[in-house]
Amino acid sequence: MKCRHCQSEHLGPFLDLGTAPPSNSYVKPEDRAKPELWYPLVIRVCEECRLVQTEDFASRETFFSENYAYFSSFSGSWLGHAKAYAADMTRRFGLDASSRVVEVAANDGYLLQYFQGSGIPCLGVEPTASTAAAAREKGIEIVEDFFGEDLALKLATNGWSADLMAANNVLAHVPDINDFVRGFARMLKPQGVATFEFPHLYNMVAEAQFDTAYHEHYSYLSLTAVDRIFAANGLEVFDVETTPWHGGSLRVFACRSAEAHHPRRDTVALMLAKEAEAGMLESAYYAGFQQAAERVRNDFLEFMIDCQRQGLKVAAYGAAAKGNTLLNFAGLKPDLLSFVVDKNPAKQGLFLPGSRVPIVAESVLSAEKPERVVILPWNLQTEIKQQLSYISDWGGKFVTAVPTLTLHP
Ligand SMILES: [Zn+2]
Repeated sequence: MKCRHCQSEHLGPFLDLGTAPPSNSYVKPEDRAKPELWYPLVIRVCEECRLVQTEDFASRETFFSENYAYFSSFSGSWLGHAKAYAADMTRRFGLDASSRVVEVAANDGYLLQYFQGSGIPCLGVEPTASTAAAAREKGIEIVEDFFGEDLALKLATNGWSADLMAANNVLAHVPDINDFVRGFARMLKPQGVATFEFPHLYNMVAEAQFDTAYHEHYSYLSLTAVDRIFAANGLEVFDVETTPWHGGSLRVFACRSAEAHHPRRDTVALMLAKEAEAGMLESAYYAGFQQAAERVRNDFLEFMIDCQRQGLKVAAYGAAAKGNTLLNFAGLKPDLLSFVVDKNPAKQGLFLPGSRVPIVAESVLSAEKPERVVILPWNLQTEIKQQLSYISDWGGKFVTAVPTLTLHP
């Protein structure tokens, strides 16, 4: 295996979760008698450029199918974040009706709708047909394709050279990160700005967030690696902010390095120094992560077995990727975890990949009254605890497994 960015063959250990099915391949009731495809889920770190990356086992078409069930607009707090971003960027970079805003991985138009609402022309790039259709219903123009240098050149020729490009939670999901980043350098106007949000590797390691690992996630990013990858592909990082999303994310601001219209702020050097201080330039930092993942897995499994011995019924909330990684690494099945509640009607009636835990509507919670509810998307726990606060009526308690097993009072 060679590094996706620098082609080095020196790749050290980071995380080995054995095998798992793709986390979005929910099982339909009529397919329960059929086998599932499990692929190795092994993540390594490049000893040269420090890009943390999955080993390649399947094509991206396997993971971004027509059945892709994740719609951004289902999360109310994420919509608030998108709205605030649109207002901030419009003000900071003086966007108006003569500007062009392009979002890569526009999903269902959750973000572009706010630019469109202010009369700023915008375009979305989105490879998934179901979410692209939802964006078009909002009146947003969508190019249904994977983004890279070729598509960027084509769009720039067609009048879509951009003042602002946004890429939220997609940089870590592209197999060819060099081609993807070059696309931004090709498509930005000389003074244009691109912003990228992605979960910060620093938090993943500090908080034992091993369950953010899944096949669709090709890279786990530090600013150290991103700064180098961008520079090699025509972009310069000029600012960085932290956001609380997905357990702690970075928002990186970049411009074309040929022009460098935007001076580099101190924030960049400060973040690089913070990463160096944490040990992110040394192999030992990465090699120690496996043990942290196994500790979380063992504590969680022990808790689930204990509940069964005590006769306590356990359910879970949130049928998403994080949960699938945790449940499949722990080898859990419906005998220990009766059901998982999800408010997305498209997932209800299906089964989680691998563990085959049934996905049900929230009404099942009040009917079954489980004594313990495991919040799988721990990053949304504040919101979920409020939404389901009524489980205390029957003595129910919330549980989170990451970073350490916690029974919430
Ligand atoms: Zn490398």
